[in-house]
Amino acid sequence: MGPPGSGKGTQAQLLVDRAGWLQLSTGEIFRKHGKEGTKLGRLARSYMDRGQYVPDEVTVDMVRERLRELTRETRILFDGFPRTVAQAEALDKLLAEFDRHVGAVLVLDVPREELAKRLRRRGELESRADDTPEVIATRYDVYIQQTAPVVEHYERNGLVKRIDGRGAVEDVAARMAAALADPTSDSGAAA
Ligand code: AMP
Repeated sequence: MGPPGSGKGTQAQLLVDRAGWLQLSTGEIFRKHGKEGTKLGRLARSYMDRGQYVPDEVTVDMVRERLRELTRETRILFDGFPRTVAQAEALDKLLAEFDRHVGAVLVLDVPREELAKRLRRRGELESRADDTPEVIATRYDVYIQQTAPVVEHYERNGLVKRIDGRGAVEDVAARMAAALADPTSDSGAAA
């Protein structure tokens, strides 16, 4: 987990490549559907382009479908999910159905000024429709309002590991790996 621009996607990709896990990125799935112009894609886009979250029910249904396709042995790294407390509660129930559980929650901490800088650069390089200054501001506010409480939800279960997300990609990756290896570690949060 982490605010927009914190490096979730990049770090998730590195982790799955190295650990042989499966990355389940709800944002990527929505973008794929958007490009293909499916019904789900059109619906998702109408929210994404404004920086708003896709409704919980739509998102949870999509995750449920994906989970059904995977074996119990597949280790999953959720990237950008759950983003609301309702999604987190739905995920707990869903995983219980599959006799599974959340092992750890990694939270990337990056100061707001640094996030804005990174997203402006990504907007130039990748031309994501939601990386314009107005939408970036909305996405940050939505994160603080709706997703920060999810971190608290998992903090109550003692599952959260905060990672200092500043600096080079490889340095952050090393902190992530260390946090995962040591069940009691805290890499020294930035915020
Ligand atoms: P991301 O690629 O994770 O930054 O997600 C891009 C956009 O997809 C978000 O701003 C939301 O509009 C939508 N999205 C991705 N994941 C979720 C989720 N778990 N719940 C609701 N909307 C989501």
